[in-house]
Amino acid sequence: MKPEMKTADKIPFLDLITPHKELRDELVETFGNALDAGAFVGGAAVENFEKDFASFCAAEHCVGVGSGTDALRFALMAAGLKKGSIVVTVPNTFIATTEAISQAGLTVDFVDIDERTFNMDPAKLRQYLEVECYVDPNSGDLINKRLSRPVGAIVPVHLYGQTADMDPILELAERYGLTVIEDACQAHGAEYFSKRENRWKKAGSMGLAAAFSFYPGKNLGACGEGGAVTTNDAAVAKTIRMLRDHGQSQKYFHEIEGFNGRLDAIQAGILQVKLRHLADWNENRRAAAARYRDLFVEAGAADLPPIEPEWATGVYHLYVIRVQDRMGLIRYLGEANIGAAIHYPVPLHLQNAYKSLGYSEGDFPVSELVSSEIVSLPMFPNLRDDQQERVVRGVMSFVSGAGLQNRGRERRLVATH
Ligand SMILES: *Cc1c(COP(=O)(O)O)cnc(C)c1O
Repeated sequence: MKPEMKTADKIPFLDLITPHKELRDELVETFGNALDAGAFVGGAAVENFEKDFASFCAAEHCVGVGSGTDALRFALMAAGLKKGSIVVTVPNTFIATTEAISQAGLTVDFVDIDERTFNMDPAKLRQYLEVECYVDPNSGDLINKRLSRPVGAIVPVHLYGQTADMDPILELAERYGLTVIEDACQAHGAEYFSKRENRWKKAGSMGLAAAFSFYPGKNLGACGEGGAVTTNDAAVAKTIRMLRDHGQSQKYFHEIEGFNGRLDAIQAGILQVKLRHLADWNENRRAAAARYRDLFVEAGAADLPPIEPEWATGVYHLYVIRVQDRMGLIRYLGEANIGAAIHYPVPLHLQNAYKSLGYSEGDFPVSELVSSEIVSLPMFPNLRDDQQERVVRGVMSFVSGAGLQNRGRERRLVATH
């Protein structure tokens, strides 16, 4: 079958124009207020946004910072981990996760993901802690055998807007005395049902601290760079307030050496305007995900939609499917004027930047397989029904042309649970 002609309207992978058109007057007014007040860094706009975002995340404190990377780095630095200790995360995430670990003076290590959720596999984490580590009888530290270093923290990434399976991760962390820092940079508003606590919990309220990014394309995006840490720990919040501002406790009194990692007042004002719409935008994303699912099921491809476990309420930062010939699919969709992307094509343990970690192909087989097949389809709050129908028609005509046996999960690795 021929792809639909290029003459069809472009369906962007992401629409950053429409939401700002709708809010233009309010956003411009925010900018005007900052100009009138001459308030550009810190101040009431930042504090007000921090208050509102903390409450959105059901966390006690929020500290606005310059980016999601700052947020992760500062959270890890504020956690009081031993210098050089290991922070365990996953290979299929954005490199900012591991940059923050290294830049905080800590050591990156990985466990593989669960094929069903694309997130950290708690069984692999358990195996890492129980088999690849031992408890040093003198210090009581949990030492990784290969790296001969203590393990200090776990960074589960709530990838694509769906939380990692936090109950078992938190249980293991408690058992081994490890700190958990959530990478919630893609998960503003996502929720997790904790069986242990018999309640839904917000991303950003489960670990010692959590990092959020307000990069423009995120579910809550600034008109520029921004990020935030949420935490229920007052001391951690206080340290991060110092870290973002040159280690100052008050002007020109530096308790520690810090960074220039503050959130702009203009961005905070913009974020506060947009935050009022975030719950609705997330609902629209969930509705779009449900519509994609229905369309794929109707088209006989019930195995294509991503899985949402019963314990997750995802906010679909990305809508990710798997196909064997994903470059072929992306080209085919491009011919039909449909945007698509890959998040992320090369797992971190195989990146040149991490050659020194000594990993090679085969070390994290699930991440490797998944990262070779994933495609992110158009997903944004104002995605229209007719656009989704065109996307699904495009995907289906490609996969049926390529042979139905070439898609779906049946031939994949055996899921771990
Ligand atoms: C975007 C993102 C980051 C980094 O956020 P920045 O604001 O770009 O620094 C970190 N982790 C994940 C998973 C992300 O998606």
